Amino acid sequence: MRRISIVAAGVLFALGSQVRAQEAADTANDPVKDLVGRLELEKYKATIKGLTNFGDRRQGTKRNRDAVDWIEAQLKSYGCATGRIVYEYDQQPPRGTAGAGAAAGRGGAAGRGGGRGDAAQGGGRLRGIRARTGVNNDSLKQPDPAIRAIDTEQTPIGKTERQEVYCTKVGTTHPEEMYIVGGHMDGIGWGQAANDDGSGTALVMELARIFSNPDVKTERSIRFVLWNNEESGLNGARAYVAQREALQGKEEPAGSGKYPEPKWLGMIQHDMMMWDHGMPRADGTVSPEQRPEADVNIEFAGASKFADQAMKLAWLFQTSNEKYATDYPARVGQHMTNTDSDPFKDIVPAISLRENERGEQIGAGWDPNWHQPTDVYTTYSDKDFRLGLNAAQTTLSAIAKLTGATVAKK
Ligand SMILES: [Zn+2]
Repeated sequence: MRRISIVAAGVLFALGSQVRAQEAADTANDPVKDLVGRLELEKYKATIKGLTNFGDRRQGTKRNRDAVDWIEAQLKSYGCATGRIVYEYDQQPPRGTAGAGAAAGRGGAAGRGGGRGDAAQGGGRLRGIRARTGVNNDSLKQPDPAIRAIDTEQTPIGKTERQEVYCTKVGTTHPEEMYIVGGHMDGIGWGQAANDDGSGTALVMELARIFSNPDVKTERSIRFVLWNNEESGLNGARAYVAQREALQGKEEPAGSGKYPEPKWLGMIQHDMMMWDHGMPRADGTVSPEQRPEADVNIEFAGASKFADQAMKLAWLFQTSNEKYATDYPARVGQHMTNTDSDPFKDIVPAISLRENERGEQIGAGWDPNWHQPTDVYTTYSDKDFRLGLNAAQTTLSAIAKLTGATVAKK
């Protein structure tokens, strides 16, 4: 018996070495696998942590401008060439009484869907148990005095300048075409906007870091954009489209080989990447534990002009997730809504990646930290951060394939 087990152990050891050798060979032959392997949970977490130093990064405030500067400094340190979009935003005085945002909430805790009033934003239907949603506007709901102090300055009323930052990886053979990869850096709710949308912002920054490595080349260009003013109505993304749609694919100056605005091939948005703890329970609370079925939700807009192409793009991302994401699967849905990919959806194929479906699930109260003082770094476990990292693996691998990424041999 003993001899057999020693032989068996030897066979297993040999098999193990073979598997490891095969894995090493796969990585050497597959630049996508090499690139995905450069994503690290601790780096992703550190970038989210860095963003939370600026509190909720509310648009129009100094902490928002400081965060834009900090993001730009990070992108530059990665070797990614940065630019800014400058636009004006007209902040209207708040409507009615304080807490008007809470009016957006549907029903009380543990309301039930069914019949009329079950239409979800972006299409689809609200089903099962719903919990209250809304925006917290009460400073005293933030128990941490340090975070409360950082979040104290509010957006000035009236028209003032805003800025948002992007950086570009220029393609080697098709610099005149690009994919846009985005997340929004502003937040609300008297927390740290760690998940909404520090998690998407950090994802985009991590991809910018990896694609900017000197040994990485892509045939086509990639632009990494950190939108501002998402929470006020997608105003940063709308400003980008308004200013730059007409510049697409134009060489400037003529004969220079430079394209300030490469032709848009697709737009991929990342907004709320970490919390997938399931449907609210009967009492309206949500489990503090991640649900075992946690997944990445890839959505396109079924009602958009580019629905067919966007659907294909979404399935390409799902396939890429199956091949390269280490822990969590991805699901495809047709109800993309309420995020910065919306202004692009009738111009190019556009998709969003999220923790849950925005309309049917987040809109039904599946994320209790959404726009709340509890959206702080310390709320999330490594399982939550890892869900965001798997979305990063999904987008990185899909974009690497789409842009023809290669890694120089050492
Ligand atoms: Zn968001």
